[in-house]
Formats: sequence, C-alpha cells, structure tokens
Amino acid sequence: MKRKNKYVKKKKTGKGLTITLLVTALVGCGLVAILGFNGWDIEKSTQSVQTFFGLPNDSIEQAGSEPDAEGTTNGQVEETSGDVTEQGGDAGSEHQEMTVDAGGYMINQQLPEEPTYVNQVLLANKKNPLPSTFAPGEDPVAREAFEKMAAEAKLSGFNLTAFSTYRSFEYQKTLYDRYVERDGKEAADTYSARPGYSEHQTGLAFDIGEVNFEKHWASSSFGETEAGKWLAANAHRFGFILRYPEGKEDVTGYMHESWHYRYVGVEIATDVYNRDITLEEYLGIK
Ligand SMILES: [Zn+2]
Repeated sequence: MKRKNKYVKKKKTGKGLTITLLVTALVGCGLVAILGFNGWDIEKSTQSVQTFFGLPNDSIEQAGSEPDAEGTTNGQVEETSGDVTEQGGDAGSEHQEMTVDAGGYMINQQLPEEPTYVNQVLLANKKNPLPSTFAPGEDPVAREAFEKMAAEAKLSGFNLTAFSTYRSFEYQKTLYDRYVERDGKEAADTYSARPGYSEHQTGLAFDIGEVNFEKHWASSSFGETEAGKWLAANAHRFGFILRYPEGKEDVTGYMHESWHYRYVGVEIATDVYNRDITLEEYLGIK
C-alpha cells in the first residue's frame, strides 16, 4: 500500500511539473506575441498587458494629458456672466483643434440666423451660438419649475435663489466687453461667455445660490455646501441639469460650474442624471 501511494504521489508531481512547464511556455508565447503585435514596442506592449488584465493605466493617461488651463473659477463672484470657459474647449478631432481659438471658439464663426434645436432641445454652446436677435426672455415653464424646487428645498432648510437667469445678447455683450477691457480678451474668455454664446440667452439657464450666502454665488465653493449638494442630487426631479459637470470640460467646453443649471424638462433631466452624462452626450452631438 505504502509503495503504491508513493508511486501515485510521484506521478502527480510529474504531472504538476508538466503543467507548470506548459503554462510557462504558453505565457511566454503570449508575451512574445503581444510584443510582436505591438511592433516590438515594449511600452505599448505593457499597456496591452495592463489592459488585458484590467490593471489601472491612470499613470499612462496622465502622462499624456495636458494640465488644466488657467481657469480657477474661485472668487469670480462678481462674474454673474457665469460661464467660465476652459481653454481649448471643444477640442474633439484634430481638425477641430485647428479651427478653435484659445478661448475654445470656432475661428471666424458668424452668429446664425436661427437658433439650433436638436431633437427639439434648444442648444447653446461654443459650437452652436444663438442669433443676436434671439431674445425669448426668461422661460416661464423653467421659472415655475424653479419655484417648485425652491419650495421643496426650503423644507430641507435651504433658501435657494436664482441670482442670474435670462441675459439678453446686449447685456452679455456689455458684460463681456467690460471684462475684456479690464482683464484682456484671453483672460475674459476664461470666465465669461462671448455674446451669442451664453446659455443664459436661451432663458433656460439658472444660476442658483443660497439667499444670504452671496460668497458662494458663482463660485465653485457652492458645490461643497449642503445646499449645493441638495441641488445636485434633486434638480433633475424638477427638470434641471447641472450643465457643466466636473470632468466633462472637453465635452461641454466649460469648466465645472456647480451653480449653473439648465432646464430641459423632467424626462430628459432624469435621464441625463441617471446616466451621468452631459446635454451634448444626451443629444448625441459629442
Ligand atoms: Zn450661468
């Protein structure tokens, strides 16, 4: 009996060794294949292996990404024009980058005769400006939704106010020109929308803050307040979306604005919120 056991054990060891050798050979072949597939480029191959095994490749991505442009929106309280821009906004394809200026606007773009609607949703961004004559005023449906939202926020102890909603083309022009005169065009482009490009001209954009907390108005600090958090978590139920979310600067063309909300109706807002996307992505134009 003892002998038999020994024999069996020995045989198993032999089998184990064979399997180990086989696996080693296979892994070796695989690595050579990956290396060969990537043109014997070791860095590229490392990425392939990382991707294959689902390893994080943040470091690789970060190495290639550009640092954020100027753009701290903090302290821009007096900038009720909202709409802090990020340099290079809609840099999608290489072709677009060639035609986009430092402010993220299309070079030599003329304002259109008609506003842009995508699936019946009015759109205003750096690629789709509004006609200078487009002057709808504040949207009454959006206002009603805001009041409803503010009433509910009050039950949770937050006294919300919309400190800037509709802004006419002329008013935006006055603001923008004033900033250009004060800080120069390049700097002005980082925190104020050019006339025709502000979503506030649609009458559907609401800059929201808390009564008696003016220091957080049009400031990224609003997003850190309890009121700002409540808004971010509930606005969709009333038809509003956070228009310029964090991390979507290259999609929206604007830096994160925790105070700027856009009315799109409950259905769209809920979908955008649940899918954690932007209006551009919802409309399939990015
Ligand atoms: Zn705004």
